[in-house]
Amino acid sequence: MKQFTTLLEAAEFAATLCGSWSFATSDDRYDAKGLLVLAEISDSENPADEDRFYVVSLSGAIGFCKDGEDIEWLFLSDAAPNENLPLTYQSAPQIRFCPKCGNPAVPGARFCGQCGKAL
Ligand SMILES: [Zn+2]
Repeated sequence: MKQFTTLLEAAEFAATLCGSWSFATSDDRYDAKGLLVLAEISDSENPADEDRFYVVSLSGAIGFCKDGEDIEWLFLSDAAPNENLPLTYQSAPQIRFCPKCGNPAVPGARFCGQCGKAL
């Protein structure tokens, strides 16, 4: 899945994956144009908090979430209405490498576990 900071960015990407969506909690349906208009309004009226973001599934479904927490799926892709959507989202951990010896560092470590260099 890809993550986006605004609904408009998510909608633009989703529009490359499918052509129509249904709203998860009602019978409302959207084509690409309708979705982009709605996304623009939503971003200007309800911008997402800094620690929240939108995700787009492989089929173009759009969800809203916080890292490591439950995904609230907003728009379901008509291309795959029965898609097995993930319930939570975990972004890939940032792996750092020691600048001296090149070994991967333990997350949060202040010194390299291999050579002892300060990170
Ligand atoms: Zn090292």
